[in-house]
Amino acid sequence: KQKEAQRQLKNIKLMVTDKDEDVFFDDVAGIGDAKVELQEIVDFFQKPEKFRASGSRIPRGVLLCGPPGTGKTLLARAVAGEAGATFIALNASEFVEMFVGVGASRVRDLFSQARAQSPAIIFIDEIDSVGRIRGGATGNDERDQTLNQMLSEMDGFDSDLQVIVMAATNRKDILDPALIRPGRFDRIVYVPLPDYFGRIEILKVHLNKRPYAADIDFHDLAFETTGYSGAQLANLVNMAATVAASAQRTEIQYTDLEKAMEYERLGPERPRYSDVARRRIAGMEAATALTCTLLPAIEPVLTVTIVPREKNPLGQTVVKPDEGREMTGLWTRRYLEQQLLTVLSGRAAEELIYGVDEMSSLHQLRLADARQIVSKLVVSAAMTENAAIGPRTVSVPRPVGAGLMQAITQNVPPALHYAADTEMEKILQASYEDVKAMLARNRDALDRIIEALLEKDTLDGDEVLAIVEAHACKEDLESRA
Ligand code: ADP
Repeated sequence: KQKEAQRQLKNIKLMVTDKDEDVFFDDVAGIGDAKVELQEIVDFFQKPEKFRASGSRIPRGVLLCGPPGTGKTLLARAVAGEAGATFIALNASEFVEMFVGVGASRVRDLFSQARAQSPAIIFIDEIDSVGRIRGGATGNDERDQTLNQMLSEMDGFDSDLQVIVMAATNRKDILDPALIRPGRFDRIVYVPLPDYFGRIEILKVHLNKRPYAADIDFHDLAFETTGYSGAQLANLVNMAATVAASAQRTEIQYTDLEKAMEYERLGPERPRYSDVARRRIAGMEAATALTCTLLPAIEPVLTVTIVPREKNPLGQTVVKPDEGREMTGLWTRRYLEQQLLTVLSGRAAEELIYGVDEMSSLHQLRLADARQIVSKLVVSAAMTENAAIGPRTVSVPRPVGAGLMQAITQNVPPALHYAADTEMEKILQASYEDVKAMLARNRDALDRIIEALLEKDTLDGDEVLAIVEAHACKEDLESRA
């Protein structure tokens, strides 16, 4: 039965929405001012004479910019829905994949079709695949001709024509400037990833299409879905509906959404390990969850599991993603120092529990993570006070997969390289000793989390917190506050 539910979950991912049904502005949520800006386009379709009389420039092209899954296609469909215009969509990458010479004629067809069915909106997804800067070493004749044809079609629009081209991209930076000249894609609308309140709105749009339990806490959901796009949120609700259905319910409950989120984060399950391996993995995860909970700069633990999952064949501890950091890549020294302790904690726990001679290779990947964090601290972001290094960044050894290290040593003065390496070693050693001491102080809490994991496989953040608050040492609990 569980297998069947999982198979359904997989299929859901491939589900495509019905392109034929009309979409309106109310179906698109959490995208800030984008709808307000697009109202102008709707007005143009609805009252073209008034629009012309007011002397406003007739819009021809609108470029929607934003990350994948934020609702750009949906928004273009909503503009068509609101305006009562025909919606003609295609993906620009289809142009370039075609045989030579076909791209340009395909563009001509597309535009003549739109003229015949006007009022119409032509929607071109992934415009960057034909619209990237022309010429240069990577020039592509076919692409250039396709783009030229598109531009000349747009230039040839006469002012009575009720056709507007909307295009979407998440790479505005690589677009040919000719595309965004006046009279072409001169309206640019940004469609961002939804923020906290945006996520609540989007979840409501999708949950309102079906029955759901009255006690679903949208604030909790928004909190746990930091970084999700609109498409991921829609997918989450669909998956939750499948989970509910497999439990013979029509109403979606909060636990269905939680299951769907866990699935999204961790992927499908894999076969269980032997008891010996499970205990080892539980030790590593318990140590990670414990240190994440005790260290104040680290975000709250959402879940910790020792169930082998597709996205992580060992166990996994997931902390709440940080909105600001995810988007800007902003890391403080304090954060990195504490993160380093968490990735070293698994090895430290093994040493404490099994002794030096019985340590395993389980930690290989986390040790590579540790190396990366410390190299960010010392070299790539130069955050230490070590005067021999200073704010000079140096290329350093970095993992290139499968535990291998690649030394990139171009143009690095040997003295600087040596100083950086020594500093990294010092920080790694000191951090390792720190986290080992921390775990030793909190051995009782560590053992209890391990036992709870062995018993239940997966713990949520509150369960970990309850154990930590009841059994961690006072000194660590106080410095956390
Ligand atoms: P994009 O074109 O930006 O990649 P899509 O418009 O294709 O994103 O989004 C895919 C699906 O995800 C939509 O059909 C819709 O169900 C859902 N979705 C995405 N963004 C939103 C949003 N802002 N509001 C409501 N639903 C959304």
